[in-house]
Amino acid sequence: MRTRFAPSPTGHLHLGHVVNAIYVWGLARASGGRVLLRMEDHDRIRCRPEYEASILEDLAWLGFEPDEGLHPLLRQSDRQDVYQEALERLRAAHHVYACDCSRKQTTGERYIGVCRDRRLAPETGRGLRVQMDAGIETFDDLFLGPIEHEPAVQCGDLLLRDRDGNWTYQFAVTVDDVAQQITHIIRGEDLASSTGRQLCLRRMLGNTERPRFAHHPLILKPGGEKLSKSAADVGVRALRRAGLSPPEVIGRAAAAVGLIQGIEPLAACDVAQLFGSRITTDVPPGGRIHRGSSR
Ligand SMILES: [Zn+2]
Repeated sequence: MRTRFAPSPTGHLHLGHVVNAIYVWGLARASGGRVLLRMEDHDRIRCRPEYEASILEDLAWLGFEPDEGLHPLLRQSDRQDVYQEALERLRAAHHVYACDCSRKQTTGERYIGVCRDRRLAPETGRGLRVQMDAGIETFDDLFLGPIEHEPAVQCGDLLLRDRDGNWTYQFAVTVDDVAQQITHIIRGEDLASSTGRQLCLRRMLGNTERPRFAHHPLILKPGGEKLSKSAADVGVRALRRAGLSPPEVIGRAAAAVGLIQGIEPLAACDVAQLFGSRITTDVPPGGRIHRGSSR
């Protein structure tokens, strides 16, 4: 088993990241797996070096140690040639085209293929999309159960590179997960809807191996919205300043998603105890299990 912890340096670490780290390290350590650290700085406009430094510093303070990807630091921004090569591979077998639609023009999740047959030249200021293969993607999520997606209908033609020249999250992550031989993708349930399109894109890139997916619960604010990086009350930095120890911060995150009853300290080296069974065969105890939810 090989999984990854993949923060974006667009803000400081907060309790939502700590929840993800608990699941990533917990499930990996419970089944003898490895954790790869990957800095997802594909968006060159929103990412900042000071956030990267603070994420690494907070992660080390918490005690979550990656097995790979730290020395040297694995960054998406250093992998331009890998994404370019994948783009050429995709272009050789599929319809990749330039798109000059603005974000405003493409309201909603689905792109209906406005520029598909316009034959625009791929130049600065234009994005790149790929026509998605039709069909249904199914996967059995470790926490959410069986899920079906139809990417060509749900998202339409996927954006690979945006108008500013940044590789998109969907493209960079799919290429990286293949190249880095990730067998288990463990992330928050807000990303469950991305899974079908990533599986489809993965196959269109010529890869037939499929990873396992585990989409875990998110910490929600009282109003039901998910935490944002700007939420000062849940930032790891703020909790450190308030005098909390690393196990107290981890315990707070674990309690917020119901992994432990009540707030009690939990050390990073002990998170595997929350996940007693082997990930490849069973749903770990403590995970909230949904059935039949299909997004
Ligand atoms: Zn367009």
